[in-house]
Amino acid sequence: MDREGDIALSSILDIAREQVLEQGRGLTEAQVLEVVRLPDERIEDALQLAHEVRLRWCGPEVEVEGIVSLKTGGCPEDCHFCSQSGRFETPVRAARIDMPALVEAARQTAATGATEFCIVAAVRGPDARLMSQVRDGIDAIRQAVDINIACSLGILTAEQADELQEMGVHRYNHNLETARSYFTSVVTTHTWEERRDTLNLVRDRGMEVCCGCIIGMGESLEQRAELAAQLAEVDPHEVPMNFLDPRPGTPFGDLPLVSAQDALRAIAAFRLALPRTVLRFAGGRELTLGDMGARQGMLGGINAIIVGNYLTTLGRDPHDDLNLLSELSMPVKELSKSL
Ligand code: SF4
Repeated sequence: MDREGDIALSSILDIAREQVLEQGRGLTEAQVLEVVRLPDERIEDALQLAHEVRLRWCGPEVEVEGIVSLKTGGCPEDCHFCSQSGRFETPVRAARIDMPALVEAARQTAATGATEFCIVAAVRGPDARLMSQVRDGIDAIRQAVDINIACSLGILTAEQADELQEMGVHRYNHNLETARSYFTSVVTTHTWEERRDTLNLVRDRGMEVCCGCIIGMGESLEQRAELAAQLAEVDPHEVPMNFLDPRPGTPFGDLPLVSAQDALRAIAAFRLALPRTVLRFAGGRELTLGDMGARQGMLGGINAIIVGNYLTTLGRDPHDDLNLLSELSMPVKELSKSL
């Protein structure tokens, strides 16, 4: 039988072994769909392969990041998963933190060995006041702590992207959240294209692009595969993978949690679609996967974590994560190597 015939008869994981592990070419949308449809008994094999891919194309190091919210809640947008939207009756109240607290959060993050500290604000996009607070915050952090600074401030204009670059922002986070074909079921106050345009502005200015997603918002498996392919097209430096944590009062507050099996299939599939990307465990993983899941994910393609609390929900104790990394003999990436 010729080689093509061989491949036609091979399972998707055999194909991925050759295409992704050996050649470094991510899976296509149709191939990702096959992975997210794998039967439960193949999940371990998929995770094992995803882990090998991560080691081959990214190395053994794990990137650690901390986040802090400069402005919480009261956002005018209507992202249906988000308890920070001012349009829904959620327990989150609008709040801001002051400079000393911001610098202290950066200091604590650096003390865990983290290389990235991300300043986040719940806004559609930054106004002049927020930009000036970010500038002051970055200056203050720089004087006190040696850490890369990332920002997540929503949709940017070209001028704002210029300003952030000039402030020395290392990485900018803006999530696509979900597949383009499902976006209007999740957000109606801005478009998927507006989000993608901001990612292009950031990339054009040489900042690293961090672009994440949320799994489990009612999207189909086909749309999950579509999302992986669209992320691969953006080719971000980092992809934070969130699993929906249904927040009370939001339109998605009653959605069921993603099953652990589906979450693990998604982790393996996204690693096989994005062999060189920093794939970060972000929100919702504790609920969906529990303690065992953290280990399975770290051995299934994940190579970055957020330490401490997320924006509106509590994460795990940073020491639990750091202990897990040392138990798995996975070195924490050092600052000098990420600059
Ligand atoms: S996800 Fe961001 S833009 Fe959407 S409502 Fe929440 S804070 Fe606002």
